[in-house]
Amino acid sequence: MDAPLAANAIWPDANWKRRLRRRLLGWFAHAARDLPWRRTRDGYAVWVSEIMLQQTQVVTVVPYYERFLQRFPDVSSLAAAREEEVLKYWEGLGYYRRARQMLRAAQQIVALHDGVFPQDMAAVLALPGVGRYTAGAILSIALDQRQPILEANTIRLFSRLLYFTDDPHSTRGQQTLWAFAEDLLPRKATGQFNQALMELGATLCLPVAPKCSQCPVAPLCPTNQHGRQSEIPLPKRKQQYEEIHEASILLRKGPHVLLRKCPEGERWAGLWGFPRFRVPGPGQDAEKISLALHEAIGVRAQVREVVTKVRHQVTRYRIRLTCYEADWVSGEAQGNTEFSWTTTNQLVDFPLHVSARKIAQAVCRREAKHRS
Ligand code: SF4
Repeated sequence: MDAPLAANAIWPDANWKRRLRRRLLGWFAHAARDLPWRRTRDGYAVWVSEIMLQQTQVVTVVPYYERFLQRFPDVSSLAAAREEEVLKYWEGLGYYRRARQMLRAAQQIVALHDGVFPQDMAAVLALPGVGRYTAGAILSIALDQRQPILEANTIRLFSRLLYFTDDPHSTRGQQTLWAFAEDLLPRKATGQFNQALMELGATLCLPVAPKCSQCPVAPLCPTNQHGRQSEIPLPKRKQQYEEIHEASILLRKGPHVLLRKCPEGERWAGLWGFPRFRVPGPGQDAEKISLALHEAIGVRAQVREVVTKVRHQVTRYRIRLTCYEADWVSGEAQGNTEFSWTTTNQLVDFPLHVSARKIAQAVCRREAKHRS
């Protein structure tokens, strides 16, 4: 490896790297968590796990992964599925774009690679939703290809092992850490090695209060030696949030409620929810809500009471959503998407987005209470 890219890092020598690999792999051999995707070398299954694990915790992913693979055991079964069914199996995992991109990627694999998960870096990188980290993880874990990886856990771990005092998310920081990831790789068993790095980052080299006393590489870690774990890596700049208010309508017509499918280009595209729109603030009166509903979907309704309030966060928005119950009066729902009248019992059959699911749960709880 050439000289380090950043002056504010301690670049280790060959002896240090040998010792680190030995210690890390020795530790991983007995400390590795038994996770379902670690029992396979199937590129497709590893791909599913890697996509699910993006921005989602391991404990949350396990049951989703198992259900998903049971229903879609290979590329062909996924490629042949309807988007709505794939989203249903993803419901609750969040970041639904991942599921839609996986479906498109599976169709691409069938069209271009006869349904066999590609083994070539360029072909894997050409799949929708697959970036450098994911491609490296799949190819190293499934095929032991010598590919480096860099994700949240290894960014933190590498920053500490390198004593890297700059911003690891800057261009320079990323170049330095990717170069380190490549430099560290052993010649063989790279999949095992990459998983061991991520495991160490996820279980011991934690963002706050890392467990250095249990860490197999503690004697090699300059950040530990200098006691600067709380300063390295440099924290990310804090996101500025904007608070917005929205109203959602549980529109009733006899035994049915109205669902609206989020169209392409909208937040939660492909998922279903109740008609909703932006409002200037909390506590809008019924008349204004009724007018806004008519403007949004062309239906007149008698707005009654508040069903529930939901708070959630999407990108830089903190959304305060109030759900009102209303009775349909006149008009057909209109807009550049699909609508469906359904009973509350059938709501579970639809892939609902997160706030719609919370509203549906509140409605079902309320109805069950009235029945009992
Ligand atoms: S010694 Fe502590 S800071 Fe260093 S790698 Fe291990 S857990 Fe992380």
